[in-house]
Amino acid sequence: MPTTTPTRDTDLGWQDRGLCAQTDPEAFFPEKGGSTRQAKRVCTGCEVRARCLEYALVHQERFGIWGGLSERERRKITAGP
Ligand code: SF4
Repeated sequence: MPTTTPTRDTDLGWQDRGLCAQTDPEAFFPEKGGSTRQAKRVCTGCEVRARCLEYALVHQERFGIWGGLSERERRKITAGP
């Protein structure tokens, strides 16, 4: 969920094209144990989903839904098999 202010990535034009920019940002940062379904549904139709997920993985974003994945789901990817 690209609402934070990045400091290193200079190619951030994709963030303006994210569907989450047009929706409720709180859905992408649910309370602990809260539903992520609404945010993930939005991500499904987002044209910059792959770029968003890549950004979150590279920058090790710890909170929120990015590229359709929760923090726990992203951690599984970076942890490997
Ligand atoms: S993939 Fe999801 S979190 Fe990322 S920009 Fe698109 S809507 Fe926002």
